[in-house]
Amino acid sequence: MDYTVDRANLWHPYASAVAPPPVLGASASDGAYITLDDGTRLIDGISSWWCAAHGHSRPEVVEAIRRQAQELPHVMFAGFTHRPAMELAERLNALMPRGLNHYFYADSGSIAVECALKMAIQYQAATGHPERSRIAALKGGYHGDTVGAMAVSDPGGMHRIFHGILPQQFFAERPSCRFDGDWDDADFASMETLLDEHEDKLAAVIVEPIFQGANAMWFYHPEYLRKLRAACTARGILLIFDEIATGFGRTGRLFASEYAGVTPDIMTIGKALTAGTVSLAIAAASDRVAAPIQAFLHGPTFMANPLACAAACASLDVLDSYDWESEVARIERHLKAALAPCRDCPNVRDVRVLGAVGVLEVDRIPSPETTQRIVLETGVWLRPYDRFVYTMPPFVTDNAALDRITSAMRCLANAV
Ligand SMILES: *Cc1c(COP(=O)(O)O)cnc(C)c1O
Repeated sequence: MDYTVDRANLWHPYASAVAPPPVLGASASDGAYITLDDGTRLIDGISSWWCAAHGHSRPEVVEAIRRQAQELPHVMFAGFTHRPAMELAERLNALMPRGLNHYFYADSGSIAVECALKMAIQYQAATGHPERSRIAALKGGYHGDTVGAMAVSDPGGMHRIFHGILPQQFFAERPSCRFDGDWDDADFASMETLLDEHEDKLAAVIVEPIFQGANAMWFYHPEYLRKLRAACTARGILLIFDEIATGFGRTGRLFASEYAGVTPDIMTIGKALTAGTVSLAIAAASDRVAAPIQAFLHGPTFMANPLACAAACASLDVLDSYDWESEVARIERHLKAALAPCRDCPNVRDVRVLGAVGVLEVDRIPSPETTQRIVLETGVWLRPYDRFVYTMPPFVTDNAALDRITSAMRCLANAV
C-alpha cells in the first residue's frame, strides 16, 4: 500500500507533521494481534494504548455496535435518553465503588477529567466555598492532553511548553514507597504540607490510584491513598481518582483503588471501558458531590453516544464472561519471572510489574527507526517512550505470546 498521503497530510500523535516518524499500515485486528497491510501479524504488547484489554475486535462488542448503528447511531443527550445509556448505568451500578452512582458520559478520558475538575469546583461553589477553585495533584501524574487535564499532569512533563497558559495548580512529590515495599509515613509529608498550606483554596486532589501511568510508570504504596482519603475528608477537599488507565482489571483488581480499600468522591474511567472499539469515558460522582450542583455546565455534542454505550455494555458482558482475574494473575507471574533477569542489563535501571503491566525503566530508549526494525523482526508491537520500555498486553495474550513480548522488551532495552 502507498502511504504518501499519510506522510503528506496526516498528523500523528506526539509527532511532526512534516518529518513524521515511521508508521505501520494496520488493516485488521483480532485477540492479541494486529494485522498489517502486507499480512504481517504483530502481537499487540500494549493493547493499543491500553484500551483493548480483552483483545481486539471482540465479536460480541462489534455485533453490539453494528446492531446499535442500525437502530439509533446517535441522538443529543439534552432532552433525550436511550436504552444503551440506561443499560450501561445499570451495569455500572453493580460495578462501581459504592456511592459513586451519578454518571456523566464524556467523549474521551481527557474530557472526563475536565468534567471531574469542573464538578469539584461547582460543588465547592454551591456549598459556600467559591474560593476553593484550585486543584492539587502529584508530580509524575498524567491526566490527559486538554488544558485543564494538562494543568494537573506532571509539571515537568511533556506539557511544559504550555506552562504560561495553564491554570497554576499545586503539586506534591511523587509517592516514593513502592507498592510492595514498606510504608514510611514520611512519604505523605509533602502532600500533607501542601494541603495544610492551601486548604482554603483547594477544591479537590486528583491522583491516579496505585499506578501512575503515562508520566511515571510507577506503582506506589496503598497506604498513601488511605492517608490521602483521611486528609481530604478532614479538610473538606474532594478526592478524585483517575482510573482511566487502571480501571477494569489492569492492575489485578477491578479498580486499583481496591488495593487501598478507599473510595473517592469522584472517579474517572475510560480506555478499556469499550474494549478498545470506540471512545467513551465517564466521570462518576457521589450523591454528596452531585446533589448541590444545580446545573452541571458541560455538554459534549456526542455525549452518551449510543454506539459507545452499546460497546461499553457488551464490553462489560465480556468482562463478566471470563475469569480475567486469573488471566491477569497469570500475566503478572509470567512478566515477573521473564523480566527479572533484565535487572542485569546495563541500560536498565529498574524492573517493575503489577497485574498486566510490566515496566523496564531504562537510561535510554532506541530511536523510532530502530524500534520499528525490532518490532518487525520480533513481530511484537511495543512503543518505548521517555525512559520506559513497557508492556500492557491484552488479558487474552497466551504464554507463548508473552514470551515473545518479554524477549522483544529485552531486545529494545539492549538496543542502545
Ligand atoms: C489516557 C489517560 C487519560 C486521557 O484519556 P484520553 O482518552 O486519551 O483523553 C487520562 N488519565 C489517565 C490516567 C490516562 O491514562
